[in-house]
Amino acid sequence: MKAALQPIWVGLFAACLCPLFARADTIYLKNGRQIQATNTVRQNGKVTFETAAGTMSVPESVVDHIVSGDVPIAPQKGSNSAAADLQMAPPSSDASDAASVLQSILRNGVIDERALAQIDASAATGAAGALARAIEAESAASRFELERSSLAAALQHGERALGFAPGQLPLLLNVAYLHLRRGEYQPALDLLEKARRSDPNSSDIGKLTGWADFGLNRLADAVAEWTRSQQQHPDPDVARALEKAQRDLNVENKFREGRSAHFDLHYYGEAAPELARDVLRVLEGDFEDISTALNYIPKEPISVTLYTNQLFQDITHAPSWVGALNDGRIRVPVQGLPGVTPELAHVLKHELTHSFINEKTHGRCPAWLQEGAAQWMEGKRTATATAAELLSMYDRHEDPSLSVLEPSWINLQAGFAKEAYEWSLAVVETIESASPGDLERILDRIDEGASTENAIRATLHSTYADLNSATADYLRKLR
Ligand SMILES: [Zn+2]
Repeated sequence: MKAALQPIWVGLFAACLCPLFARADTIYLKNGRQIQATNTVRQNGKVTFETAAGTMSVPESVVDHIVSGDVPIAPQKGSNSAAADLQMAPPSSDASDAASVLQSILRNGVIDERALAQIDASAATGAAGALARAIEAESAASRFELERSSLAAALQHGERALGFAPGQLPLLLNVAYLHLRRGEYQPALDLLEKARRSDPNSSDIGKLTGWADFGLNRLADAVAEWTRSQQQHPDPDVARALEKAQRDLNVENKFREGRSAHFDLHYYGEAAPELARDVLRVLEGDFEDISTALNYIPKEPISVTLYTNQLFQDITHAPSWVGALNDGRIRVPVQGLPGVTPELAHVLKHELTHSFINEKTHGRCPAWLQEGAAQWMEGKRTATATAAELLSMYDRHEDPSLSVLEPSWINLQAGFAKEAYEWSLAVVETIESASPGDLERILDRIDEGASTENAIRATLHSTYADLNSATADYLRKLR
C-alpha cells in the first residue's frame, strides 16, 4: 500500500539552490481536523498515509476530502550537520598496481570514458581476468575522481565496480564511504549492514557505521560503534570523532528541561531536544489564544512533561484510551515524534485549555464542561455523521445526563468515554454558537461558588435537561 504514490524529487541533482519538494497531501476530516501527510492511498474503505509519526490510517467514512499539493521540505531533514565536517580518510585499498591501471584509462588528465567502457564491455564475457580488470579500472577511476572531490563521478564509478562483484568488501566500503561524504547516511548504512554480514569484525565497517549513525543523529549508536572500532584498530580520525560524539551525547543526556515565559518543561526517555523546543513554541502561541478566549491569565508557570508511550502508561496508570493527561501538570506521550505534528498540536492545546480552566475555576469545573471546552478550544467540531449518531441516541432518550458526566471520567469504559466526549463537545458548541462568551461567564460563576447547573441557569436560563434538548436542536441543523 505504501508504494502506490512515491514522493517526487525535483532538482535533486540540479544546483543546490532549488528547494526539494515532496508530494504532500492535506486530509480534511469531517470533524474539522486536518492532517498533513504524504503517500496518501485510498484502499479497502481506508485512507492510509505517512506522517512524521509513522504510517497511519483512518476509515474513509471520516474523511471529507483530500487536497494534494507540493510543499517544500528541508533536504536531509533530521540529519546531523556536524557529520559533514568529520574528517575521515577513505577505507584503505590494496590495489598494488593502481598507478598503472589508472594510466591506462586516463587521457589528457581526465578519465577516458570510451577506454573504460571497452574494459567494462569485455568483463561482460564473465572471464575472471576481464572481470578483475574492470573492477580495478572502475575502482581506480573512482579514487581518481574522489581525489578531485568529484563525489558524484566517484560514486558512479564505485557503483559500477560494485556491480561487477556485489559482495566484495572493499567495493562495498568504497561506495558506503562516498555516500557518507555526500551526506547520504541511510544508503551508506544499508551497504555497511551488508558488508558486516560478510566480515563481522572489520574495524573499517565500525568506523563508517559510526559515521552514518552520527549523521542520522543516533549519537549513542555512533559512540558504541566507534568505541568498538577503536578497540579493534585505533585510528586518529575515529578518536577525534568519538570524542565529539561523546560530548554531544553528554549534552543531550543533560538537556532534559526547558523553560519559556509561561512553561516549565520536563521530559524523559528518547524525546529529542528539538521536539522540546518545538513544543514550547507551540504552547506559547496557544497560551495567547486561550487567555484571550477565556479572559484569564494563569499566575504560575504551567508544568509540562513529555514521556515515551510506555513510560506514560507506567507512571500515570491512565486507561489506554487516554492520549494525554492533565493532573495539574500536562503529561503528553510523544514517543517517536520528531517534531510537533498536527495531532500533537491538538493535544497540547486541548491539555493547556484544561490547565487554564482548572486554575480559573480553582478546580471546580465539572468533567463534561472541561472536556467540551478543551475540545472546542483545540478546534474540534462535531462531524455530520457524529451528529446523526448523537441525535438518534437523544431520540432513544439515551443522551448522557450532564450531572452523571460531572465527576472525573478516569474510570469510564472506553465505549462510553467516546460518547461522553462527543456529547460534551456538542453541548459546548451549542452554548458558544448561541452566544459567544457565555462559556467564560459560566466558568466565572462556577468559580464564584455556583453549582454548574446553577451557573448554566443564571447564564443561559436553562436547566441541564433544557441544555440537552437545545443541543439536540443544534445537532439537527448539522445533519
Ligand atoms: Zn481532556
